[in-house]
Amino acid sequence: MTNSGLRVRFAPSPTGYLHVGGARTALFNWLYARKKGGKFLLRIEDTDKQRSSEEHTQVILDGLRWLGLDWDEEPVFQGARLERHQAWAEQVLETGHAYMDDGAARFRMPDETLEWEDDVYGPVSFEGSDIEDWVILRSDRTPTYNFSVVADDIDMKVTHVIRGNDHLSNTPKQIAVYRALGVDPPAFGHVPMIHGTDGRKLSKRHGDTAVGDYRRVGILPGAMANFLSLLGWSPGDDRELYFEIGELVEAFSLAGIQKKAAVFDPTKLEWMNGQHLSRTPPEELLPLVATELAERYGINAAARADDVLRALEVVRIRARTTNNAAKQTAVRLDAQYIERDAKADKLLHKDLSGFRHALEKAADHLDDVDPSSWLPERLDTELRTLAEQLDIGLGKLLQPIRIALTGGTVSEPVNDLLHAVGREESLRRMRAALSWEPRS
Ligand code: GLU
Repeated sequence: MTNSGLRVRFAPSPTGYLHVGGARTALFNWLYARKKGGKFLLRIEDTDKQRSSEEHTQVILDGLRWLGLDWDEEPVFQGARLERHQAWAEQVLETGHAYMDDGAARFRMPDETLEWEDDVYGPVSFEGSDIEDWVILRSDRTPTYNFSVVADDIDMKVTHVIRGNDHLSNTPKQIAVYRALGVDPPAFGHVPMIHGTDGRKLSKRHGDTAVGDYRRVGILPGAMANFLSLLGWSPGDDRELYFEIGELVEAFSLAGIQKKAAVFDPTKLEWMNGQHLSRTPPEELLPLVATELAERYGINAAARADDVLRALEVVRIRARTTNNAAKQTAVRLDAQYIERDAKADKLLHKDLSGFRHALEKAADHLDDVDPSSWLPERLDTELRTLAEQLDIGLGKLLQPIRIALTGGTVSEPVNDLLHAVGREESLRRMRAALSWEPRS
């Protein structure tokens, strides 16, 4: 893509963590810049010294990096630009577009129509006479948001402002400032708010709202970006899954941004994450589960890489988060993490002798498979042969093995499971389960 001269920016206030709404706005800006061969810039709006912090700035930058949203120039810190803002204010005062009032500089709203062609809303207009004159520089000589944002966007040569529609009513004030300064305003696109599944504005009440929360529970960055992209944007067809960020760049357009509020559905995010997980190669997943394996399960993923990779190959199909993939991996690698669930117990209650019979025969039969042949295809053949020999349905043979190996009734196909757990450990677990008693 050629350099188009397009420049967009994400301008977070570092007064809290990277909220999913902010991340979505950043993503739309980034996608648009990448699509058009433009530049994606960052401006940290840290003028509220009471509420802004260096820590929050770092968390926001980390969150953007994690999502893969790289920026093209050094971030601009708004707080460092005070003199520049004051100089712009002086200019507005000198030309009579602002006047002093109680020590503050107040912008004189023109008696004009302030209109623009919004990338999302289409033509929007406000009457300048309906908007009161407003303070651009407080009596302590600090600038207000609507003024500094214009000064910064001009200095950063921003060509497109894509931001939340909570800023829609700020835009006429900003356009008036552009006019007063004799500078062409950038294009504007206002993206819809994000609501919870109850239709109310997304807030803490709905659960996790910080990007970092999702990272911690094991959402993949690619899945998070995929999910965020569909909050207020639609490709125009039914496609929902984009496994490569490049596919999103390709599909993205401002025309696909919708006016109606988007709905943040955590269940959908988990589903989408499961889809991404099942497509992620085990080698890529290993570093993503390593910390959880070490901290929660005492498993050194580097030292047991072969075992971990074998387990990830199959558990990724059913896992919905990387933490869950780590848990399932731990169960396959270490019998102490087997937790017998209620459904498994029910089967033991119903037919304890059938359970033991199947396990005894399976252990004896599979003992004849030598270590080098302990592979999914061969194991499948052996299990079918044995079921026929025993004259029982395949399920009656497989379910006891699944329970003995995992403690539960749901898993990958049993031949894959046996392969993931490994020969010695599988045989040991089957024999150990022969003495299991149903719990009351
Ligand atoms: N700091 C503002 C916000 O977080 C930026 C608004 C803008 O993009 O102009 O809402």
